[in-house]
Amino acid sequence: MWGENLPADDAPLGPDERLLDATEVRQLEPRLREPPMRALHLRGHGAVDPVAVTQALVSASKDHGAKLIANSAVTALTVRDGRVVGVQASTGPLAADTVVVTAGVDAPMLCAPLGFDLPIAPSPALLMRFTGPPGLVRTLVTTPHLEVREATDGHLLVAAGYNGEISHEDLQRAGEQMLHRLIATFDAEDVHLVSVRLGTRPMPTDELPIVGPVPGVDGAYVAVMHSGITLAPTVGRLVASEIVDTVEAEQLAGLRLTRFHSDTEY
Ligand SMILES: Cc1cc2nc3c(=O)[nH]c(=O)nc-3n(C[C@H](O)[C@H](O)[C@H](O)COP(=O)(O)OP(=O)(O)OC[C@H]3O[C@@H](n4cnc5c(N)ncnc54)[C@H](O)[C@@H]3O)c2cc1C
Repeated sequence: MWGENLPADDAPLGPDERLLDATEVRQLEPRLREPPMRALHLRGHGAVDPVAVTQALVSASKDHGAKLIANSAVTALTVRDGRVVGVQASTGPLAADTVVVTAGVDAPMLCAPLGFDLPIAPSPALLMRFTGPPGLVRTLVTTPHLEVREATDGHLLVAAGYNGEISHEDLQRAGEQMLHRLIATFDAEDVHLVSVRLGTRPMPTDELPIVGPVPGVDGAYVAVMHSGITLAPTVGRLVASEIVDTVEAEQLAGLRLTRFHSDTEY
């Protein structure tokens, strides 16, 4: 990582952080055209391909007896006697002891009939894929102009924020601009744009995850957050423990839905 976010020379570094000079950067990333004079190496950091991880988790769940119902849209939570007892879905109704709402930016729509407004805004971002020579990018490289890494399928993955409306032509143009940046940063002409997709990150208005039961409504639980990939292993474990083992997780204390309606008694 280099650019404006670098710590000052005399700032204390974390246990897995190291400031590098240009020679050290070149050892890590030999295909950079112009290694920076200073860069921060976060040795303990890594990255995953979210699609591959999701597929692996779904497959493992099925091995453990879970049933996957794909291409099914939940139209409403089913409420009986003030308690959520399942969902209405395009493929038919489903009963459940607890419904965990993980619908990202659509979670507020599902929770509104429970009388609870979830303050979540859509935060658009682009995910771009490129082909390139294997090993062109060896670490996760963050510069002032791009953030790139190589996925396990060999594609170079670049994520970029985006504001406002975007047309198909805009997506293509954004991908081509990023392609020029990649070629300007790394010593390779043989890099090609594969795809640009617009994703919508669910962003709670205070930017903190929203995790916990819906206040006053038994059987409904919400888990929505940005950085959901990074947080998923820990949050998933804690949520499962809260719901299955009924052990309240201290780590989730500041993330409850009640923080948005602190003056309401439930
Ligand atoms: C370009 C991009 C870059 C990102 N970068 C990072 C990063 O660097 N680090 C990180 O940790 N995270 C990152 N994220 C993840 C993101 O910020 C979220 O945290 C993450 O997507 C949340 O996952 P989720 O499964 O909770 O919700 P979502 O990904 O929003 O998924 C919600 C799912 O619910 C489905 N759904 C919605 N409504 C219904 C309904 N009524 N019935 C049935 N299904 C429904 C949707 O189809 C969707 O599949 C990135 C996301 C994008 C798009």
